Amino acid sequence: MLVDVPTIRPHKLAMAVMHCQVLCLVKITCSDGVVGWGEGTTIGGLAYGPESPESIKVNIDSYLAPLLIGQSADPFAASARMAAHIAGNNFARCAVETALFDAQGKRQGVPVSDLLGTRVRDAVPVLWVLASGDTAADIAEAEDMIARRRHNVFKLKIGRRELAEDVAHVARIKRALGDAISIRVDVNMAWDRHTAMRGIAMLADVGCDLVEQPLVNHDVAGMAELKAQGKIAIMADESLTGPVSAQAFIDADAADVFAVKIEQSAGLIAAGRVGAMADAAGTALYGGTMLESAIGSIAAAQLFCTFPNLQWGTELFAPLLLTQEILTTPLTYRDFALEVPQAPGLGITPDEVAIARLARGAPTRTITHG
Ligand SMILES: [Mg+2]
Repeated sequence: MLVDVPTIRPHKLAMAVMHCQVLCLVKITCSDGVVGWGEGTTIGGLAYGPESPESIKVNIDSYLAPLLIGQSADPFAASARMAAHIAGNNFARCAVETALFDAQGKRQGVPVSDLLGTRVRDAVPVLWVLASGDTAADIAEAEDMIARRRHNVFKLKIGRRELAEDVAHVARIKRALGDAISIRVDVNMAWDRHTAMRGIAMLADVGCDLVEQPLVNHDVAGMAELKAQGKIAIMADESLTGPVSAQAFIDADAADVFAVKIEQSAGLIAAGRVGAMADAAGTALYGGTMLESAIGSIAAAQLFCTFPNLQWGTELFAPLLLTQEILTTPLTYRDFALEVPQAPGLGITPDEVAIARLARGAPTRTITHG
């Protein structure tokens, strides 16, 4: 089902301004009666990548569901079947795989983390993204977050404005918040190589700790050049779409940090492989988000809590950016971290009444296996 949820304020990224998040929520009922939930969500419709919430729904209904109905509900088997028969559509595959992991965890009485690896932490650090577009409003927002012990690391979305204006914005926020607070930026592919060379040098001078995806996603060589400068940590995000892309970055020594995203990687299993590859190569890790609601965010948290190294924390803050609660019990954000539930499956209970109220009018299509 497609669910529209307004955000608490406009969220301004280089490629889109979001006022609302569209969730594609997947509910799978297995033949033993066990139910699992998953989520496919994008940023700004088609602004960020080739899948939209609407395409995720139509492709699940038309292709993924018929492929899987009557087959094993084991998430590893289903994931392999999807990979063999469905090209691309990483977000849609992730949504279905997540729902099957939720169901499998409930079936076996274990949290999804235990199906993916060994849980090494029960909470993951979570930063906040300052993206109101207004420097003073961003500073006030950050100070409020620090005072409430909700976030003490901030990521700034830049790349929409002139370089000097963007750097001045970062500098003012860094000065206002002080040395103890880590400030990072996400350019979302908005710079060319020359702008990136200049921009990174300027950002280093104002105390910025990391630059995320300064260049277009396919420019691996350009990212390697920026990393070789050694001025600020370089993080790959949009470039990483699973293990094959991760290998290209490792071979080219093109990033200090990988932002691992379960949707971009085509699911929890593939994202776990990206994490293991980064570890083996000495690349640091960060848990990324596609601004998923509580369902997708906690699925990612179940994976990230199994990563032995999570040097740069996570950005699983998006449930706090949404105005509507879709769980019967909200997620727990405390002491700058998100707690990862221990209950079976994803460890959450979707509020189906709230979800039905927010869902788009058309009735959900149900396919039964004959
Ligand atoms: Mg990013």
